[in-house]
Amino acid sequence: MIDIRTFMLVLAIGNFGFALLMAGYARTATANPAMRVWAWAKAVQGCAHLLTWLRPDLPYAGVVIAANTTLILGSAFEVAAYCTFLGFANWKKWLYPFSALALLVVHGARLGHASSNELTVLISGVIAALSGAMAWILLRPGANRSLLRRVIGINDGVFAIVMGARAYAAAVNSDMSVFTPGAVQTATLLAAYLLMIVNGFGFLLLCKEQDDQEMALLATIDSLTGLVNRRAFFERTDSARLLATRLHSPIGLMMIDIDHFKRLNDRFGHATGDEALRVFAATAQQTLRDHDIMGRLGGEEFALVLPGTDIEGATQAAERLRQAVSAARLPTSDNQYGITVSIGVVAIDPNEHINSALARADRALYAAKSGGRDRIVVDEPRLRVVG
Ligand code: GH3
Ligand code: MG
Ligand code: MG
Repeated sequence: MIDIRTFMLVLAIGNFGFALLMAGYARTATANPAMRVWAWAKAVQGCAHLLTWLRPDLPYAGVVIAANTTLILGSAFEVAAYCTFLGFANWKKWLYPFSALALLVVHGARLGHASSNELTVLISGVIAALSGAMAWILLRPGANRSLLRRVIGINDGVFAIVMGARAYAAAVNSDMSVFTPGAVQTATLLAAYLLMIVNGFGFLLLCKEQDDQEMALLATIDSLTGLVNRRAFFERTDSARLLATRLHSPIGLMMIDIDHFKRLNDRFGHATGDEALRVFAATAQQTLRDHDIMGRLGGEEFALVLPGTDIEGATQAAERLRQAVSAARLPTSDNQYGITVSIGVVAIDPNEHINSALARADRALYAAKSGGRDRIVVDEPRLRVVG
């Protein structure tokens, strides 16, 4: 049989340790905001266990009240951290009233001279409900149930069941309080220890996993336009090109450059120039299909890869894009100003390196510029002007 009091101190120190670890990670620039809530949950749970450990030496009602309050609040904070992490919208609506009600019932029962058994039933029931909510949040049908999330969710579920069993044991036994030894108490404490370790590290890994994914996404996106950046464009295009070669399917490529962009910058300022780049990207994205790859190669120069599209299809897509861009208006003072683009179109030959195809598209683009701008030139194999 384990020594319950010593175990309380172990849980307190463990939770404080996790709180420090989480608080340290939460201060890093990329950390998920849920991490801060989680750090608070661990700190409050550490207080709950420390206060419980102190109870035999400090037999005051205030200590018991504070211990029970922090125990319930600690679990509620943990649920709040899950909800923040998963971006739930309305969780405060049910978690706040539930926590307030739980505190009211538990403290009301104490004031009403409930027996220690009854209090154990109530508190265990509340913690079981909150842990059950955490398990449901992670394991619910339709949720992203990665292995990590399942491990944490199952742990929460097991703890909810053990707490439920503790509530039941307190309901049927004649005398049971926090320090009464027994198989159920031992199971509860061991489950609490496992939960602290697995979920403490687990939540850290969950946040880290999500932060890393966001960082990886940011590293591929051009922050001004939301299109993929130059490096990501080359990576994705290369994969698309290899797939197209294997499937013997055509693949179209366009180089697009905004006409007289310097003039726009000079006339309306750099901010309007930036807005024009955004308007262009948004307009272009509306004319694209899901698997088309549009990248900002630099400045006001873009490239678009159309997997499964031959030169005719790519020319039609380029014409649609040219017309859509010239119809879009910029948010200038009179909303009258628009932009036009010149486009060079090629079909990437099987086994042709992307740089060579881009060089051909660039030549076609140059021809479109020299031909008067706001037009398309197709390289097939002679240059043909469209639009
Ligand atoms: P052309 O019709 O021949 O393409 O002429 P252009 O003026 O569009 O081309 P040029 O290459 O001479 O000028 C491109 C300008 O784009 C110069 C540069 O200051 C501006 N530019 C590059 N990147 C950005 C940006 O991120 N924001 C803004 N506002 N301007 C940019
Ligand atoms: Mg230009
Ligand atoms: Mg340019």
